[in-house]
Amino acid sequence: MKYISTRGQTEPKTFSEALLMGLAPDGGLLMPESYPHVSEVTLYEWRQLSYPQLAFQIISLFATDIDSADLQAIINKTYTAEVFGHAEIAPVRRLHDGICIEGLSNGPTLAFKDMAMQLLGNLFEYVLGREGKTLNIIGATSGDTGSAAEYALRGKDGINVFMLSPYGKMSAFQRAQMYSLEDRNIYNIAVEGMFDDCQDIVKALQNDELFKAQYHLSTVNSINWGRIMAQVVYYFKGYFAATQSNEEKVSFCVPSGNFGNVLAGHIARMMGLPIHRLMVATNENDVLDEFFKTGLYQPRAAAQTYVTTSPSMDISKASNFERFVFDLVDRDSSEIELMWAQVGAGKGFDLSRVLDKIHEQYGFVSGKSVHADRLRTIAEVYADDRQLIDPHTADGVKVARELRETGEKVVCLETALAAKFADTIHAAVGEDVVIPRPAKLVGIEDLPQRVQVLPNNAAAVKMYLKEQLGE
Ligand SMILES: *Cc1c(COP(=O)(O)O)cnc(C)c1O
Repeated sequence: MKYISTRGQTEPKTFSEALLMGLAPDGGLLMPESYPHVSEVTLYEWRQLSYPQLAFQIISLFATDIDSADLQAIINKTYTAEVFGHAEIAPVRRLHDGICIEGLSNGPTLAFKDMAMQLLGNLFEYVLGREGKTLNIIGATSGDTGSAAEYALRGKDGINVFMLSPYGKMSAFQRAQMYSLEDRNIYNIAVEGMFDDCQDIVKALQNDELFKAQYHLSTVNSINWGRIMAQVVYYFKGYFAATQSNEEKVSFCVPSGNFGNVLAGHIARMMGLPIHRLMVATNENDVLDEFFKTGLYQPRAAAQTYVTTSPSMDISKASNFERFVFDLVDRDSSEIELMWAQVGAGKGFDLSRVLDKIHEQYGFVSGKSVHADRLRTIAEVYADDRQLIDPHTADGVKVARELRETGEKVVCLETALAAKFADTIHAAVGEDVVIPRPAKLVGIEDLPQRVQVLPNNAAAVKMYLKEQLGE
């Protein structure tokens, strides 16, 4: 399997190359040159498989330049009950009204990003080791992505992680999660500024070609192909868990921000998984909802992005959306170029002429959930099912209930656990409700913390990297 760029100006890449690459050199995103097709017979056989077995079958179709026995070993050590808190890895449960919830958030940082990041950490270590390379990952986080990356890369050979976070802006739990890691390859940097300042510093370092090359800088952001690939697996798993036979169809409802999660659903559907509809759930930041309703894509600037109580969906320019549009325009790179030139100029584009195709052929629909919906849905699920769901999952459940048609089976993806968002949960169900926290995270706030506070400028961060890396 080779990987091509949505912009069409990059030589096809191997899986290992795609794995270590962020944006393609032409500014596009890497996509498999074609989707493997899963036959009825294969689908029938896959129903019996455990999560790691299924992951191996699916990932083998994409990671074709990794030795098969090695890939099996990497997957087996990634998807364990110990790491994911559950023998099934992604257990599916049913609410009283029939909506299913697929639990993707029982990993180390209690959010679905662990599902892909844990595999990515092991794949990175393997590929770098094979090629005798080292990599210094640099990133900015407001909490969630950074901790998922740190827990995936801690203790790995050939990799250091420099994670910038805004000083004093994260919750006590988030700080504890990141800063209590004692691994020597994890460097937490608290910048005296906001999240956007952290991001600007990362960009400045990335744009310094000399520094970037000398210090082998890289990132693990949401556009990494390896993350999308790993996410395809749990759509298959969720489908099998929610159905009795492959005659049935299932719809998935996905709380969305950067469009990485639901894109994996699109790929599973293209591979032949009997998915009926893909429901994109947004919060108040509803650029995607607008697109799937009208065909108009009008991304907004950071200043017009609301801060909400489902913060991981506070995104107005979904970085993975280009990959779906690439399929939508029948992989015409010149059209993608034109459309994203418009986006770059602060405008959007109009695909209303293919709205039918978006709905009928690709099965996409959408809905929106706002703060009041979120609180109500959390309270309803607590009252009816005695379960606490997190605010992002609540956005998904709200939209799933709204869009579901008679007889339609819907699996809603659980993208985080309630324990991460105590304030909103208490606002929904009352202060005296005890929010369960996994045993390994009890008392985490009391552990010693390691963090370097630095002034808000790129030069200070560069200096710190040089000192630590001693080159
Ligand atoms: C990242 C994240 C999302 C959004 O996922 P995308 O792949 O960016 O669409 C939703 N919920 C939670 C809790 C997340 O951490």
